[in-house]
Amino acid sequence: MSRYLFVANDRALDFVNTAFAGGDTVPDVIAFVGWLEAVGMLTADEAHAALARATEPERERTIARVHAFRSALRRMVEAYVAGRAPVADDLAVINAHLQHAPIHDELVALAGGVASVRRVATDVPEALLYFVAEAARELFTRKDRQAIRRCANEACTHYFYDASKNGTRRWCRMAGCGNRKKVAALRSRRRAS
Ligand SMILES: [Zn+2]
Repeated sequence: MSRYLFVANDRALDFVNTAFAGGDTVPDVIAFVGWLEAVGMLTADEAHAALARATEPERERTIARVHAFRSALRRMVEAYVAGRAPVADDLAVINAHLQHAPIHDELVALAGGVASVRRVATDVPEALLYFVAEAARELFTRKDRQAIRRCANEACTHYFYDASKNGTRRWCRMAGCGNRKKVAALRSRRRAS
């Protein structure tokens, strides 16, 4: 069972959702790297390498950057859904991580020829935010704005991308927020009758 919640149907929104009212599933660098691995942005080996060398001050600096990035991304999503342009500072935070991809492909010799191998630079953990920034770029430029929605439970801060055919998804989780709402509606109906 994953420690993370993946209900958004979009990686950038799933990342935004790691901070919610009363909780944070990415409170430190270990959890951040674990999240990247859980969504398949890093392999297990790359995740291991990213954590192996980081010193404590580095980890603290990194998680501060990760949280600043996440807050900026949430504000951008809010603005985007509301049809507003993003704040320049928030845009700059995301763009800073699009500038230097810590990933490239390399050719290696094989006995019978050549192969392409993926290389990820893991020495600066905060550079791994590139993967989330790329997911955000996709969300803002390739996906349907109307389908980005916040959970209909007012107490819930989760966002999701509605891929349902009729576009009627309202809850982050039917079993959580959706069900709570149904139960509340049932109760008020009972009281009324
Ligand atoms: Zn919800």
